[in-house]
Amino acid sequence: MSGFLNSIGRLRAPKRAPIPSQLSPSTGGYEAPLVSPGAELSGQPPSPGPRPLFLCQPFVKAALVKGSFKTIVAPPKYVDVNEWVAINLFDFYHNLNHFYSALTEFCTIHNCPTMSAGHTLNFLWPDQNQRLVSLPAPTYIDFVMSWLQKLLEDEHVFPTKSGRDFPSSFAYTAKHIYKHLFRVFAHLYHAHFEQVVHLSVEAHFNSLFAHFLAFGKEFDLLVMKDLMTPQGMGQGVAELADRWREMGILEV
Ligand SMILES: [Zn+2]
Repeated sequence: MSGFLNSIGRLRAPKRAPIPSQLSPSTGGYEAPLVSPGAELSGQPPSPGPRPLFLCQPFVKAALVKGSFKTIVAPPKYVDVNEWVAINLFDFYHNLNHFYSALTEFCTIHNCPTMSAGHTLNFLWPDQNQRLVSLPAPTYIDFVMSWLQKLLEDEHVFPTKSGRDFPSSFAYTAKHIYKHLFRVFAHLYHAHFEQVVHLSVEAHFNSLFAHFLAFGKEFDLLVMKDLMTPQGMGQGVAELADRWREMGILEV
């Protein structure tokens, strides 16, 4: 468990805006987002719109890791698969939170009134009565990050003490964590990639997302319907994944 313990030791509380009390994830416990059925699509047919910057050259191929992520995602010898997944979930959360912290001045209620990922996708959050509501992106992301931090510190879900096993529901929980991290990636790509480029961190951001996708595929954590609309049309970030497959960065 040492790797995961070390990761826990590095955890720092992210800088966040206050959460409105009536929607606070603490009122419903961290289970609240686990029942979230998914994204809402606007009723309008998708309009082509301008091509997202992250799909344009040279940004689409800006990555720190050259070649395939296959070897990076493989578990080291003698490491329990659940522990390997736990370590990686923690690192994805921690690294994504760093990027989000750098973008909070741009991801405001004014700039991002909805948790959108492109023109046709708006992710909803369940309120106390499990009614799905549209939230400003920074509020939504704060809920996700608060929920995840609480979950990662929960000994019953992510055991760090010797002799404690991972719960039988761990794979289910890991998939839900993946879904919500994916939504944060999708929003940051669609709404803030220009600022990512301004900060000169697009290679780091692409590498983190490619690693996240490769790991998700390897351990069956990515639910493909989160990458597609019900009509089967790829979202921008799904198209990005396709491009990376063509380039050999991701496995087919
Ligand atoms: Zn935003």
